[in-house]
Amino acid sequence: MIDIIGTLMTTRLQDFCRSHEPWLLDLIDALVAIESPTDDKAAVDRCGATLAGRLEQMGGRVTRVASQTSGDHLVARFGAGARQVLLLGHFDTVWPIGQLARMPIRREGDRLHGPGVLDMKAGIALGMLATRAVLELTPPEDASIVMLWTTDEETGSHTSRALIETEAAASTAVLVLEPALAGGALKTSRKGCGQYELVVHGVSAHAGVDPRKGVNAIREVAHQVLAVDAIRDLERGISVNVGLVSGGSRPNVVPDYAAATVDVRAATMADADEVDRSMRALRAVTPGAKLEVSGGFNRPPMERSGGVARLFGLARDVAAELGFVLGEGGTGGGSDGNFTSALGIPTLDGLGALGDGAHALHEHIELGALVSRAALIAGLVARLSRAAA
Ligand SMILES: [Zn+2]
Repeated sequence: MIDIIGTLMTTRLQDFCRSHEPWLLDLIDALVAIESPTDDKAAVDRCGATLAGRLEQMGGRVTRVASQTSGDHLVARFGAGARQVLLLGHFDTVWPIGQLARMPIRREGDRLHGPGVLDMKAGIALGMLATRAVLELTPPEDASIVMLWTTDEETGSHTSRALIETEAAASTAVLVLEPALAGGALKTSRKGCGQYELVVHGVSAHAGVDPRKGVNAIREVAHQVLAVDAIRDLERGISVNVGLVSGGSRPNVVPDYAAATVDVRAATMADADEVDRSMRALRAVTPGAKLEVSGGFNRPPMERSGGVARLFGLARDVAAELGFVLGEGGTGGGSDGNFTSALGIPTLDGLGALGDGAHALHEHIELGALVSRAALIAGLVARLSRAAA
């Protein structure tokens, strides 16, 4: 059924976004121009100060949630209604200070390059323009729009996770403004991610004089690398990667220490539990060697639940009103959307900018897709802020 009023509103939201595109570009530029590597609190807070200022200019009530070990997180509230729609993202990046000089903000045809522009400063700016459009044209009476912009997503969200879960639990839906999949598709599922550390203690000995007295920890880790590899099941979406191995001191010493770090991913909660059980069931095979396994899943899988499917249906309707077909897909990468969806809160991810090269030197966004993306987010927020949504 064609919703005439909905279509009209979506068109007006898009017109607003189009006429305010210069504001959007200026905001993206301002955010990318202030480098914000996760591990540099002072730098991230500088970016946060600019972002907070812009949020206040929009009429947001901004709270800085102080963190000792990362930049301060920002919460901005618009409207006072009880029902809450959460826009979620992060303004830390993987790029060190000085990267901007090596890959400056530059426009090349339809592309805007710069460190952190795709992942995910443009996404934040899109969410802000969309919110401006909604507040201006169809201000929600009984709902509020809340933005949570965090500072440690790239290192696992250790200081922001509780805040993310608190705000998500108070929300009817969570829209995550991480980069889109190729072609603009949304992310309706994400694998859960974990990391394990295997440490082997052996017995050192002179490799030439007393080889029988030694227990070679590297030999034992080699066994474990193959055992871990056997947990992999790509058909089921279980990926396991031994990404780091260390151990030993010199060739003529039987090593008494070796370690391996393992990255694991699983598509469902059940598979994540099974992987965890398999990792914890690992046992040393070399007599005299001691194996310690630590770690676990940091981000639970984001599964395509009924709530996620309904939310995507809403987004697809808005896209249709804007005249394009919206796709969906999954990804092996995790985001803060994993936390919110694991709480059972309908979550849509990948609503941010189109582009390519997150965490890579060719990182860029597609300028031609910005207005319709902002309109998509605006149309979605407008519907979610209505009681019937
Ligand atoms: Zn990101």
